[in-house]
Amino acid sequence: MCSMRLLEYEGKNIFQDFGIPVPERRLISTTGDEIIRAIDEIGLPLVLKAQVPTGGRGKAEGIKVAENRENAENIVGELLGSDLKNYEITSLLAEEKLEIDKEMYCGIVGDRESGVPEVVACSEGGGDIEQIAKESPEKIEFTHIDPLSGFEAYQAKDIIKKLSFPGDVFTEMSRILHKLYRVFDSYDAKLSEINPLVLTKNGELKAADSKIVIDDYSLFRHPEYKEKTGRHIQNPLEREGKEKGLNYVDLDGNIAIMANGAGLAMATMDLVNLEGESPAAFLDTGGGLNRKRMKNALKVLLKKAKSDRKVKVILLNIRLQISPPDAAAHGLLDALEEMDNSEASIIVVLRGRNQYVEKAKEFLKDSEISLFSDVREGVLEAVKIASDD
Ligand code: GDP
Ligand code: MN
Repeated sequence: MCSMRLLEYEGKNIFQDFGIPVPERRLISTTGDEIIRAIDEIGLPLVLKAQVPTGGRGKAEGIKVAENRENAENIVGELLGSDLKNYEITSLLAEEKLEIDKEMYCGIVGDRESGVPEVVACSEGGGDIEQIAKESPEKIEFTHIDPLSGFEAYQAKDIIKKLSFPGDVFTEMSRILHKLYRVFDSYDAKLSEINPLVLTKNGELKAADSKIVIDDYSLFRHPEYKEKTGRHIQNPLEREGKEKGLNYVDLDGNIAIMANGAGLAMATMDLVNLEGESPAAFLDTGGGLNRKRMKNALKVLLKKAKSDRKVKVILLNIRLQISPPDAAAHGLLDALEEMDNSEASIIVVLRGRNQYVEKAKEFLKDSEISLFSDVREGVLEAVKIASDD
């Protein structure tokens, strides 16, 4: 995964910060009196919306209307903790119910083909925009934006004219499009989308939904989201890997594999497969090893071995070319010190610059780790232990 989808309420908070009109709302994450307070402050009826990182919640029964207090409490009790499209619902957004006159669509997407942002707008919204794009593309306006000059006023006017959006919202609509572009730009987004953008019976425009997808590579500029990056990953080890900046994939075999580089890790998996055993995990630490990353990586694999009895061996294929040997070796020792490992044998293949390898071996010589200088020998030893019953 290389992008992060914000939840509806997070997106709406951002929309609000940027001046895009959003419904009045409260986040509900417990079955206590939060909902009663929300009703007192917003009024009835309320729309209750499951906060899960996926669309189509309406159709999947993740959006309900509460007409009275009892009704609202029941819906909260029913939705919180239940599953929607394989995600556990841990919070709900309670919103003023909008009197909808018309549902429209607008979004800014990073267009891969042209490499620039593209405004996508349609006078019909609420449903699946991809569907409309397939069936009646003439209903959608696509406009490329030059990122240097930005989204020009005339471009918004053109879009609104062509789509014959209702005339009296012309100015407001144009403002919303520009603000949505600013959200896209400021958050290094891959997508910022309002679907539906609602025209209410009193003639107001409101963003009834939000979808913001942030490029993972820009999360360092958005520290408030960086720590949340793994939260939707269901597998706890994969989530931990993601949070620690490691590329971890949980598998079902008996040898947990780690290497410093994705290609090296894949090649190691191939060797294990060729010798008739199967990988229990793929872990790529990435380049530029340091002590902490090395520790975190081995810890994930030790946890895997603990939680999955099939795992007999942890096999590390480490190439010390530019990464300092002491950082790598001490990272491994740190992990072993923090976790007691009675489950798996640890095999480390160390190659790379001679003096680095020798130094690392020196640091590791008194540990429980078996050291190898030849990949094939290391793999054969791992396979031997793994197939031994
Ligand atoms: P999604 O299905 O996950 O994309 O969730 P949305 O937030 O887009 O909601 C789906 C549909 O529910 C919308 O297209 C609306 O028709 C309806 N809906 C959402 N919020 C409201 C609301 O406040 N009032 C009314 N009447 N309908 C709403
Ligand atoms: Mn929607």
